[in-house]
Amino acid sequence: MEKEIFGVAGVPTNYKGKFKDLFAWLKGMGLNAFEIQCTYGFKISEDRQQIIREHNNNGVFFSIHAPYYINLGSLNKAVVDRSFSNMKEGISLAKSLNITRIIFHPGGGHENTPEGRVKAINQLVDAVNKLTSEIDMGEVRLYPEIGGKTASLGSLDEIIDICKRCKYCYPCIDIAHLHAREIGSINTKQDILDKLNKIKSALPDKFDKIHFHAYTIEYGDKGEIKHLYHGKNMADGRVGKPNLDDFISSLKELKLSPWVISEALDSQELGAKYMHDLYLKN
Ligand SMILES: [Zn+2]
Repeated sequence: MEKEIFGVAGVPTNYKGKFKDLFAWLKGMGLNAFEIQCTYGFKISEDRQQIIREHNNNGVFFSIHAPYYINLGSLNKAVVDRSFSNMKEGISLAKSLNITRIIFHPGGGHENTPEGRVKAINQLVDAVNKLTSEIDMGEVRLYPEIGGKTASLGSLDEIIDICKRCKYCYPCIDIAHLHAREIGSINTKQDILDKLNKIKSALPDKFDKIHFHAYTIEYGDKGEIKHLYHGKNMADGRVGKPNLDDFISSLKELKLSPWVISEALDSQELGAKYMHDLYLKN
């Protein structure tokens, strides 16, 4: 990757201008990435598509976050079938916009037992492999994301497993979700290095194409509660984690090409700028 990539998920709350001027605003803060949040479906208006085309490959890097209802691991066959055809639409949309990364949640609605989870992951892997054999993927790659709740699919092991078994899948490592679903597992730089090294040894060919989500998070005994505002503490006063300084210095130490999206609550651009500035510092 020729350049470091740092940006935001969705239009930042603090941005009040027009969509077409958003990218200059981001650039003013040194940011060059935008994750399109297709929360309610793989639909982008013609106007926006035109604006995206103008900026794509012209200094801005776009990724697409799939709708939240995509669920290829569900026990409900109708949900899986609908998710399957939705994903096809998403891949066509990404191809038409020259976007190479689609982020999706592995889902839920499975039986939350070790056997139930294995079954759900097997079903997801079969569905993804069927999907990618039926459609020309071009440059598009699918990124299953770490889930934030203990019950949701998408533990680190499950994401690694999916990426091992699906040629077109690459890991989306949301380090805040990982911290939350493991009830506060990332407390030192070594904790981050251990996670990343685990991915490196399991997926050596995919390691340099990891997609990151990074911000701090509030969690409880079931995992994720909410994303924190950049720099704010948890409700009980504990400092928000994972530590972004440790995260950035880990990326540098492992010489990873960073494609990092901030999902900090109402402050995505502040989180992204903070991490980018750190990255540029020696
Ligand atoms: Zn997500």
